[in-house]
Amino acid sequence: MREPVIQGNPDRDRDEPSRARAHDERARPADQADEKLRPQRLSEVIGQRSVAERLAIALSASKKRGEPLPHILFDGPPGLGKTTFATVLHNELGVELNMTSGPALDKKLDVMPYLTNASEGSILFIDEIHRLPVTVEEFIYPVMEDFRVDMVLGEGMSARTINLPLKKFTIIGATTRSGMLSAPLRDRFHMHEHLEFYDVEDLAKIVNVNASKLKTTVTEEAAWELAKRSRGTPRLANARLRWVRDFATARADGHITLTIAKDALDMQEIDADGMDKQDRRYLETLIKVFNGGPTGAEAISATMNVAVDTLTDEVEPYLLRRHYIIRTPRGRKATPLAYRHLLLPEPAADPEFNLLDQRRMFD
Ligand code: ADP
Repeated sequence: MREPVIQGNPDRDRDEPSRARAHDERARPADQADEKLRPQRLSEVIGQRSVAERLAIALSASKKRGEPLPHILFDGPPGLGKTTFATVLHNELGVELNMTSGPALDKKLDVMPYLTNASEGSILFIDEIHRLPVTVEEFIYPVMEDFRVDMVLGEGMSARTINLPLKKFTIIGATTRSGMLSAPLRDRFHMHEHLEFYDVEDLAKIVNVNASKLKTTVTEEAAWELAKRSRGTPRLANARLRWVRDFATARADGHITLTIAKDALDMQEIDADGMDKQDRRYLETLIKVFNGGPTGAEAISATMNVAVDTLTDEVEPYLLRRHYIIRTPRGRKATPLAYRHLLLPEPAADPEFNLLDQRRMFD
């Protein structure tokens, strides 16, 4: 199995505004450690069955025809398996995989080496593709369509365009914000795969498999508890499993029992529903400062002093999915479930308020 080539411009990433980095740090805290736990084959991927089935079809067709895979776009919150699927496809096909990300491709020149060096059938993975600058995005349209780049040489009257043919390869894009992708870019991907949060059963399987990869033992109840408290996200399940394993080693004989798992997660202030301090602070801010909303994400972000991207990409999707908050045309609003979760008195129902929201929906 070939190692993926991870390139990019770390210096530029370092110079990026802190907004971007804050996002990366929270989204990918255990990246290196995660590599060991990443499934390598499609058969090792747990959950996301319909996505995996469609990819299996694409793989088989591509192998039979001896052609590269179609361009694929993965979207969904961080930590759900977008990079994992790209890695799996590269292993299944035995082709080269180059990895980069939208913010690292500042100019056309940054993307050129990836295009000209791409070998026949290889995969170019572009993470955070919604952050590609428009000029770079437009530059890759002919690449995705006809495998050629159009370059302008010279200036003014003597300028001329040359077409540089490229090898046929596959672009796999990953985004946490498919809504931010321009329609022309989105349309150039032949497959769009949306990754959903995992259910507890699938996460428990992931915990069990990864516990043995980490050479630790976990009881069924403890695996279930860990899965329940992982916000539907495999990356968090992995991070929490590592913490519980350390806790079990330090406080007991290394075996993870239900009591150990509960104590370890309580110590990290991860509650019974898997929410961490940041999730609870978000709900508290919405309820206590903004009277439960509706209010905009920018207002909450300013009050919490947390980047708005972090809230919209990482905090809100799970809270929305679990119905702790809803999005109305006038902003985010806490549901009775959020009040109950924080043990706060629920506000009296205000039918007029809801009516107003409904009416505005159709404005
Ligand atoms: P994303 O690219 O969407 O942010 P990753 O693909 O990096 O997320 O996934 C994070 C980690 O979660 C991986 O390293 C892997 O260990 C685990 N993981 C993700 N999806 C799955 C899956 N379907 N089955 C098993 N483990 C998974």
